[in-house]
Amino acid sequence: MKELLTIAEARLPQMIEELKTLVEIESPSDSPSDVNNLAAYLSNRLDKLGVKANRILVQNGGDVVVGRYGGEGKAVMILGHMDTVWPLGTLARRPVRIEDDKLFGPGSYDMKAGLVVAIHALEVLQALDRNPKHPIIYFFSSLEETDCTPYKSVLEANAQACDYVLDLEPAWPGGAVKTERKGSANYVLNIRGRAAHAGADPRKGISAITELAHQIQTLNSFTDYEQGTTVNVGVINGGIRPNVIPDNARAEIDVRFCRLVDGQAIDSKIKALEPYLSGTKLEITGRIGMPPLERTEKVVALYQKAKAVAAQLGFELGETSSGGVSEACVTSALGIPTLDGLGADGDGAHAEYEHVLLPSLATRTALLAGLLLEL
Ligand SMILES: [Zn+2]
Repeated sequence: MKELLTIAEARLPQMIEELKTLVEIESPSDSPSDVNNLAAYLSNRLDKLGVKANRILVQNGGDVVVGRYGGEGKAVMILGHMDTVWPLGTLARRPVRIEDDKLFGPGSYDMKAGLVVAIHALEVLQALDRNPKHPIIYFFSSLEETDCTPYKSVLEANAQACDYVLDLEPAWPGGAVKTERKGSANYVLNIRGRAAHAGADPRKGISAITELAHQIQTLNSFTDYEQGTTVNVGVINGGIRPNVIPDNARAEIDVRFCRLVDGQAIDSKIKALEPYLSGTKLEITGRIGMPPLERTEKVVALYQKAKAVAAQLGFELGETSSGGVSEACVTSALGIPTLDGLGADGDGAHAEYEHVLLPSLATRTALLAGLLLEL
């Protein structure tokens, strides 16, 4: 195992150079042609390593890159996303800069550093003439930050051909991997009341806003921190003027949960909401979007394997739970053991101070290479 780290550390300058290259190819989710520039770079790069890479067209998004390496049989998926949350031009405002052992730049930590690790882990194995036991399926996606629905079935079909999924999303600051992620659901609640003159005829009106106030209390009561279930009414609007009893009000609701059954229970409760004020009507739309990555026995077993590899490399690999969703949720919902957060250490995902701890590029590359040998 130690030789993996030695080789990875020797390659650190190339990894840093490549990370800089990837960050400098801006790839916001909503700009398919820019994501495709990165898809072109990466599929080329994989080809050169003997990975048979294909680009798959995605409606309203950049292409997904799917590459296969090695022989027949069940594979291990190396999962990552090419898109970032940063609009075009962010790079001009905030160019790549290196300070001490940190590299700052839009999309560096989330998750171009993970893509670098994904590629260099295979190169390290090739340099040592070692072969992973399983074939590898590379899956680099294009709309992770917005909505993966357009290629979700392609991701699922590829994951079904795998025994394990290793997601190169950034590590938790400090290096822990994610063995649990919450699932999410979104809803819109529209309320109809009856308008009336607030001064002349107030009793003829039925206030949709008052009704909404009641509903918000009910929705808030569904939160159960112990269980990890949260309900947030994040946006409200309604009414037109102070002197009109409002006949409309609207709320946008975000729900997070650790177990799919908990999400389903909240889903039923929200869809069964009843009006408090007679004469109002509720209209509820929405559904569970992302299932959770549940910390199942299979997930824990996979984490234990990664932890053992890390120990042989000389560091401790922690685990953590995250409230945010990722595409790891999609593969784990299929029952395929999935480990998330295997990418680089750093901090500031989706934030201005986003950065990668450069030495972690080497340790995470050795970790992924070692894991590919062990699985
Ligand atoms: Zn990400």
